[in-house]
Amino acid sequence: MRPLTDLIALAVPTLLIGCKSELPPLEFHGERVVVGSDVVDEICAGTLARLDREVMQIEDRLDLSHERAPLHVYVVSPEAIAAHCDFDNCTIISNRDEPFALVNHRSFERVVVHELTHARLAHRRPVPLLEEGVAVAMSPPQCPVTVPLDLGLFELLDKQATELLALGVGYYIAGEFVAWQLERFGPSSFMTFYANVKLDSSASALQAKYRAHFDRDIEDDPFAYIRTLEDLEELEALAPENFGCVAPPAPTNGKVISLQATLSCDSDLVQTDFGVAGNGFIEWTLTLEHVQTFELVGSVPEWTSLSLQRCGCVPNRGSVAHLQLQPRPVKQYETLEPGTYRLRWDGALDDELMLDVQLVPR
Ligand SMILES: [Zn+2]
Repeated sequence: MRPLTDLIALAVPTLLIGCKSELPPLEFHGERVVVGSDVVDEICAGTLARLDREVMQIEDRLDLSHERAPLHVYVVSPEAIAAHCDFDNCTIISNRDEPFALVNHRSFERVVVHELTHARLAHRRPVPLLEEGVAVAMSPPQCPVTVPLDLGLFELLDKQATELLALGVGYYIAGEFVAWQLERFGPSSFMTFYANVKLDSSASALQAKYRAHFDRDIEDDPFAYIRTLEDLEELEALAPENFGCVAPPAPTNGKVISLQATLSCDSDLVQTDFGVAGNGFIEWTLTLEHVQTFELVGSVPEWTSLSLQRCGCVPNRGSVAHLQLQPRPVKQYETLEPGTYRLRWDGALDDELMLDVQLVPR
């Protein structure tokens, strides 16, 4: 994950020409993104459609206009990123060029919303606590982790992004703080505050701005509203989009869920799997209001997999393991609790490969 840097502003563009740090052309066009990649030959139509949805979703949640020019996004190798910044992923902001997000292909699914948020907000840069906080808050939330009791406000406010990251829970606290501000004060009020706090604001200046804008002391706020395990239910009640479940609903035929598809990269449904060369996947969203048992009818083609994952917080090392939140293969008989799930079919990108299965209620 990553802080914005001004590094590229220092680089002379001619030095980049012809050397290995040259970025691939931005040749794949969505409505709200243009994408370049040095790890795949083609970016599937479904990935572009999904990135468009993610950008719109960030804009909706932050009350921003949908009228902005497409964001520049590179999904590239770690070597290409290393030539531009010191992080695994980063968004580069310079005075001369359009900002651009550099996303490591290996961590694409985990970090893409984070970097899209930085790219979308690149025209205003507040202190790292807010800049990183909003990028974390827009990303699927982590399952609650334990925060050290001895951490103080000033340890957060004065931190650069690198230090915040080094703190381990720094990004997590920042994300929880921003998620709470958005909920409590609303996106417009939060964004006005965000625009008023400069990158180099001192901790005391930030405190004063917070008091003037929200009419309360910042003192304990970053720590007071961190969601704990007791709040898990509240966390899980968030809309599925907040967990990255933005895929179209699974097609139904009466009460039967009917999944028919091919892994053709031209299809709006098919996304590039940046982690496995030559692979793609299709994702659908399934929402259940009652406990339901399904039988899987039809067979999933060899060398492909159909999996199921509950839309919820992202399990991580520091949290209680939420095993039910991990993706797993669809069994022949599935009994599912009410909630929203993602159904995902993975395999080699191949027009000939067909999925034709049904999930029939019992
Ligand atoms: Zn970041």
